Amino acid sequence: MHQNELLKFINESAPALIDFTGKLISTPSVTPPGDERQVASLIVDMLNSLGLQGATVVGELPERPNVLFRLRGATGSPTLLYVAHTDTKPVGNTRDLWKTDPHCPVVRDGKLYGLGASDMKAAVAAFVYAAAALRDSGRLKGDLLLALVADEEGGGKYGAHYLATQYGLKADMAVIGEPPGINREWEYLHVASRGLCCFTLKVTGTQMHSGLSDYFPSVNASLKLADLMLRMSRDLKLQHSPYSLSKNEVTVNLGVQLKGGVYFGVYPGYAEFGVDVRTLPGMKKERLIGDVKEFLKQRRLADPLLNVELQVEAPPLDWIEPTEVSQNLPIVKALATASEQVLGFCPRASIYPAATDAPKFQLEAGIPTVPAYGAGMISLAHGPNEWVGIDSIVQACKIYALAAYEILK
Ligand SMILES: [Zn+2]
Repeated sequence: MHQNELLKFINESAPALIDFTGKLISTPSVTPPGDERQVASLIVDMLNSLGLQGATVVGELPERPNVLFRLRGATGSPTLLYVAHTDTKPVGNTRDLWKTDPHCPVVRDGKLYGLGASDMKAAVAAFVYAAAALRDSGRLKGDLLLALVADEEGGGKYGAHYLATQYGLKADMAVIGEPPGINREWEYLHVASRGLCCFTLKVTGTQMHSGLSDYFPSVNASLKLADLMLRMSRDLKLQHSPYSLSKNEVTVNLGVQLKGGVYFGVYPGYAEFGVDVRTLPGMKKERLIGDVKEFLKQRRLADPLLNVELQVEAPPLDWIEPTEVSQNLPIVKALATASEQVLGFCPRASIYPAATDAPKFQLEAGIPTVPAYGAGMISLAHGPNEWVGIDSIVQACKIYALAAYEILK
């Protein structure tokens, strides 16, 4: 088997690969509410029609199916896991901003438009066709395992978390095909992913008749909240060591949720705001929360009328660990070599700004996981007019196939 035969198969399959991506887009699989049954059966049918028999559908709930397919090698060692999630976020409030029907795939100027195009139905299709290309590649030693998972957009309880814990999925290394681009396609090869820490700050004041607020001592909870939020945006420092793969720092998103007050005529006695912090490898929950508590302590000393409580969110939002794999991991090197061959260059190693299923596979199942590499751009996800370059889908398929061949041959 020559690498050229893999590439020849994928070149000849390119129209079918694009067509399959379109079919995945036109099969809604929106979380919430979360139901991937239709899209899972479309994937199983496609695997079968490509001669890849033996896919299994597993999950905790029938409406949250995970499709597993194993391409068996001679020894089963190593096992390379390729992961893509099959669900999307809802169209939400952006329906009027879409120039095409989000559930109807449209190709325009080399771009395939539709909900989930980048995030990440292109990756589902590219993995399936990469497996098909490898099927005829003679005896591979190791196994290629595809996991096309549910519920990533809902936090992964029924998808990656289920597979990593209850199901007991095992592999030696993994790649998630999340869209790596931020400003353009093929911008980065993400070997790390930022984590997440969410908490709410609850500010208490004096609820009373607003006509009397200058007559009696009173504390306006909304005003205290506004002042606290502004000071946090200027002065809150979270300790961490510099991280070489990212020019971006820790991101503190203040007021991702905002609630307060009662109605006109009522002086506000309560207000709260949610904070979501995007963390870097090396950061620890206790230290981050400690920094926030220390900041609040200083604020209370400076303003005795400030009454504020910190509430860390319930799991999993309290803390999602950042992840990182070595750039010397064989699959990272294989992806880099394959990218040179297919793209003519290797995208820069970087850290993925958003959350992925990587912590589940890496930290719960112990599988070193590349969190995001493939076609598309994360900046197009969860908004209107999502697209993926049709050439990029074919390139991704080639890179996945060549890298798998390198690891498993
Ligand atoms: Zn995604």
